[in-house]
Amino acid sequence: MQLQRLRRTVERALLTPFYRRRLAQAGLKSSEDILSLDDLRRLPLTTKSDLREAYPDGLLAVDKSDVVRLHTSSGTTGTPTVIYHTRHDLDSWTELTARCILATGAGRADVFQNMMTYGLFTGGLGLHYGAERAGLLVIPSGAGNTGRQLRLMKDFRTTVLHATPSYMLHIHARLPEEGFRLDELNLKKAYLGGEPYSENTRRKIETLYGIRVYNSYGLSEMNGPGVAFECIHQDGMHIWEDAYHVVLIAPDTGRACADDHEGELVMTTLDREATPVLRYRTGDITTLLPGGCPCGRTHRRIARITGRTDDMLILNGVNVYPSQIEQLLMRVPGVATNYALTIEKVGALDRLTVKTEVDRQLFTGDLSALDRLKTHIAEAIKSGALIRPVVELHEPGALPVFEMKAKRVTDLRPKE
Ligand code: AMP
Ligand code: ZN
Repeated sequence: MQLQRLRRTVERALLTPFYRRRLAQAGLKSSEDILSLDDLRRLPLTTKSDLREAYPDGLLAVDKSDVVRLHTSSGTTGTPTVIYHTRHDLDSWTELTARCILATGAGRADVFQNMMTYGLFTGGLGLHYGAERAGLLVIPSGAGNTGRQLRLMKDFRTTVLHATPSYMLHIHARLPEEGFRLDELNLKKAYLGGEPYSENTRRKIETLYGIRVYNSYGLSEMNGPGVAFECIHQDGMHIWEDAYHVVLIAPDTGRACADDHEGELVMTTLDREATPVLRYRTGDITTLLPGGCPCGRTHRRIARITGRTDDMLILNGVNVYPSQIEQLLMRVPGVATNYALTIEKVGALDRLTVKTEVDRQLFTGDLSALDRLKTHIAEAIKSGALIRPVVELHEPGALPVFEMKAKRVTDLRPKE
């Protein structure tokens, strides 16, 4: 099935300007040249910057009139990456997310409160339709507004939550202030993902709430959530191999590495019409787990993501590149070139502090001008990178200077 679907995917890819050129360079003119899954190795790797270069339509393989939705990725410099979906694509994604939910033992009797952001970001809409298809009652609450979230949980007897791990911890810390008690709620499970977290954090959240937490992995380039998910055994995430071909590579050489070695996850879409993506470098480091799962599913499992191959930061579930912050910062008049970023945990949430040097003539004693500049910077970063930083202004020369490669990011979040 994978081979058949791979051929179809290559056929579709050849309809896009981007891959027609790429595949021709690799000596591949037709899907007939793919004789076995091993031939995948002949195909070039695709990176996030390739997708960005192809923006907006370089990877579109169908007529625009057949497209019914698009999503863009969070956290890229300047140009986003866009993924188009046909009706078939949405249907296939919905099947995958329904499958994830059923694999955790949830079903028609459950009430699903979806606390991920709805919109261009795939977190919200991604599991929404799968949960409906699996027959759960869906509350599309979206992210934020903790008081309202708790009220919904209580009044509608929510049993399953979908959120980032940091938001789950945040809600727990706010329970008393918001005037709620855990024993008034009916929570049983949570699907947590969108950002890395450790096994310890999983156990901590399970104990705090008295629920089961299932790890949920996905990325917008591969649709979004629903790429890999834990089943009731909570031992690695089944990666849906009828929809994605999976291989691990050594990030430095790009060569395939043994399954039980840590490597960068590289994925090929097998069932997407509108935007076929071949050998996509996810930047996520994991291993493929050996052996079968007691649940009986034959889709292989990946281990918890242990890191990234690039400098992408994930702050409260939002992807951010330091270079992106730099670009946004440098566009603000009055900002000088030296800056530093600090990330810390404040309560359960991530906080980004942007320290930046500004032109000396701004330090005139007029504090309101400095305040306006701080707000301006915070807003510029919020609108471009979706995260609102705390801004500190410094006089020229006040921040450390680096002669070699600048170390601009200090991540003080605890590593468990
Ligand atoms: P996005 O494309 O905005 O959905 O972001 C996708 C990225 O979020 C992935 O490439 C991962 O780096 C990260 N991510 C998503 N889910 C998880 C998870 N369960 N564990 C660790 N990282 C995750
Ligand atoms: Zn299983």
